[in-house]
Amino acid sequence: MTTHTYHISNKKIDCIFQASISQLENYAADNAIVILTDSKIASVYHQQLSAYRVISFEAGEANKIQETVDQIILQLLEMEIDKDALLVGVGGGVVTDITGFVASIYKRGLRFGFVPTTILAMVDAAIGGKNGVNIGPYKNMIGTILQPWFILYDYSFLQSLPHEEWVNGFAEIIKHACIKDPVLFASIQQHQLSDYMQDTELLSDLIQKNVALKFEIVALDEMEKNERLHLNFGHTIGHAIENTYQIKHGAAVAIGMVVACHLSESLSGFDLSQTVQIVQLIKQYQLPTGIEMDVDRIIKLVLADKKRAGKDIRFVLLNSIGEAAIQLIPIETIRTHLIEYTS
Ligand code: ADP
Ligand code: ZN
Repeated sequence: MTTHTYHISNKKIDCIFQASISQLENYAADNAIVILTDSKIASVYHQQLSAYRVISFEAGEANKIQETVDQIILQLLEMEIDKDALLVGVGGGVVTDITGFVASIYKRGLRFGFVPTTILAMVDAAIGGKNGVNIGPYKNMIGTILQPWFILYDYSFLQSLPHEEWVNGFAEIIKHACIKDPVLFASIQQHQLSDYMQDTELLSDLIQKNVALKFEIVALDEMEKNERLHLNFGHTIGHAIENTYQIKHGAAVAIGMVVACHLSESLSGFDLSQTVQIVQLIKQYQLPTGIEMDVDRIIKLVLADKKRAGKDIRFVLLNSIGEAAIQLIPIETIRTHLIEYTS
C-alpha cells in the first residue's frame, strides 16, 4: 500500500494505492460510513460491504439523474445521517459523479471519498472534483466542483469488471498519453490489454502514472480555463457520437481522437506518421477508429457543446504526441473534415 497526497487549490486529496476497502477505517468508524453504490456492485460485493450502511441505485448512465439524487437524499434523511458522516462512492464513474454531488449538497456538505471500481473511474472520473448528473439529453449539465477527501484503489474489484469496461477505460489512458506524456505512450505501445489484466504490479504502475498526470493538470487549472481543457481531447466529437449512436464512452472518445488527429494534421502541423501511431494504438487496445456517421446530426450536437464560442468550437488538437493545444475552429471546417473522413 502506498499513499500519495495531491494538492488542488487549498485541498489535500489522499490516493491510497494497492489498498483494501477495509482501510476505510483510517478515515472513519464503520458506523459513520455510508456507502453509495450501484445495484451491480451491491450484489457482487455484498459481503465486502456488509460492515457498512449501503444505499444503492440502479446501475447505468440512464440513472445519473436528479431523481436518483433525490431518492438517495431521502434515504440519508431516513437513516438520520448527520454532518459527521462520511459518504463513500464505490463504483464506476456514474457512482463517483453522483456521490460527489450528493455529498456537496446534502445538509450543505458532507465529507466524501471514492473507491473506484472501473478503470475509467480510477484514472479519470474519480479525479478532479467534477460531479453531477445529466438532464434530458444534456450530459453533466448540473453539478459542482468539489474535491474528495481520498480515493482508495482496491484492485480486487477489477476481477469482476467486464472486458468491455476494461477497453472503455483504456481510451482515457491513451488520451492522457496523447496530450501529455510521450513516455507513457511508448510504454502502452509495448504492452497489450491482457498484460495489464494479468499483472497487478504493471497495472498499478500504469494507474498511478495516469492519476499523477490527471492531478497535475487539474492542479494547474481546477476551473477548466486552460490546461484542463486538454483533457477534452477526442471528447467534442466523441460526446456527439456517444449521444447519437449509443456506443460506450471510450469507444466514442477513441473515434473522436482519430478525427482530432486528422484535424491536427491540417491545422497544427501534426505529423501524419503520429496519427498512424495513435490509430494503431487505439486498435491494439480493441477500440474503434471510425464509424459511419450522419454528419449533420453530429454537427448539431457539436454546436450544443459547452466549449462553443459563437460560430467557432474550442477544439483540442495535438502538436505532437504528448503535446496538446487549443484552437478555435470554425464549425464548417469540422463539418468538411467529418464528411471527408466518413466517406
Ligand atoms: P464508468 O466508470 O465507465 O463511467 P459506470 O459507472 O456506468 O461507468 O459503470 C459501468 C458498468 O460497469 C456499470 O454497469 C457498473 O455497474 C459496472 N461495474 C462497475 N465496476 C464494476 C466491477 N468492478 N465489476 C463489475 N461490474 C462493474
Ligand atoms: Zn472521457
